[in-house]
Amino acid sequence: MKKNKPSKPDLSRRNFLASLGLGGLGLLLPQTATAATAASKDEELVTLHDLSKCVGCGACVEACREANAHKFPEPTRPFPKMYPSTVKVEDWSTKRQVTDRLTPYNWLYIQSARGQYLGQRFEVHIPRRCMHCQNPPCANLCPWGAAARETNGVVRIDDKICLGGAKCKTVCPWKIPMRQTGVGLYLDILPSLAGNGVMYKCDRCYDRLAKGQKPACVESCPYEVQEIGPRAEIVAKAHALARSMNGYIYGETENGGTNSLYVSPVPFDILDAAITTGPGKPDLDKAPDMMADETNMAYAALFAPVAGIVAGALRIGSRLANGDKDGGKGDGKGAPPTAPPDAGQPTDSKEPWS
Ligand code: SF4
Ligand code: SF4
Ligand code: SF4
Repeated sequence: MKKNKPSKPDLSRRNFLASLGLGGLGLLLPQTATAATAASKDEELVTLHDLSKCVGCGACVEACREANAHKFPEPTRPFPKMYPSTVKVEDWSTKRQVTDRLTPYNWLYIQSARGQYLGQRFEVHIPRRCMHCQNPPCANLCPWGAAARETNGVVRIDDKICLGGAKCKTVCPWKIPMRQTGVGLYLDILPSLAGNGVMYKCDRCYDRLAKGQKPACVESCPYEVQEIGPRAEIVAKAHALARSMNGYIYGETENGGTNSLYVSPVPFDILDAAITTGPGKPDLDKAPDMMADETNMAYAALFAPVAGIVAGALRIGSRLANGDKDGGKGDGKGAPPTAPPDAGQPTDSKEPWS
């Protein structure tokens, strides 16, 4: 957590209005321009959330669900009986309407924190989803090479080869990936013994980025809470914004550094104490670097090369299982149009940003 020492916090006009139930007046406040700076196709991109602007309207959540609906799982029933029987079925397909937490069908949700800080009431809304870590343990430690970080900073899970073992969730400091049972490659290999579905999370609208568009949540926000751009530029903006509001930054150093930065007029430890956390509801804790852990480092060093090979084999298996109906271009029901190359390792994305 990065702290810019304030003499006195500015709770921001918008949030102060929100605390008085007048958040909608934010529409009348001057807007700053959203960055649309062109970046090189392989440049690391970062998103910046100005939390002093967010009124919690949920338009970004709806936009995310709409833009990514074609990637959501369509499970096959009945689900295979799992051994041992303690392996839990996770079925969100009958609860697709849930929007107050992360699920395989809801990759973004709004957390709200209310309280008092230095004698003033505050109400801060925080859009939560995958942080797209710079050195992501979910990708480094996936035994099947199904999760990968691309050169533009996108971290995504290949649903064609993910077996749903949830290692990514176990090692994620925020427990972001969510499992859906009854879908994916495990049904075609060892349905009762290996895996239990597929893990889903925000993929930062990699397909929109590939077309030079912004992520749906960034584009849809009426208050221009988010912007996205090259890392150096966005980090500098985050620091300038934090200085301007005597505020605080989250995401720059957490888990060794992420490509999602939040700036808030209220310290994040106070926000963390004020939000509801639990399954599908990540905290705002300091999140130490998971890849600095010796066990994780050793595991990554030993298994990363193997995971790349396993991922290649699983990808071939997936194509065979699907009869290579689409030439490996995706099945339109959750598979990316192209699988991340050489999953398990940082990839060499050729996707243009703009
Ligand atoms: S980020 Fe924007 S669209 Fe999303 S809840 Fe906040 S104000 Fe609404
Ligand atoms: S937030 Fe969790 S799921 Fe997202 S990149 Fe980081 S470790 Fe992976
Ligand atoms: S970047 Fe895309 S997938 Fe991620 S939360 Fe935003 S709209 Fe959803």
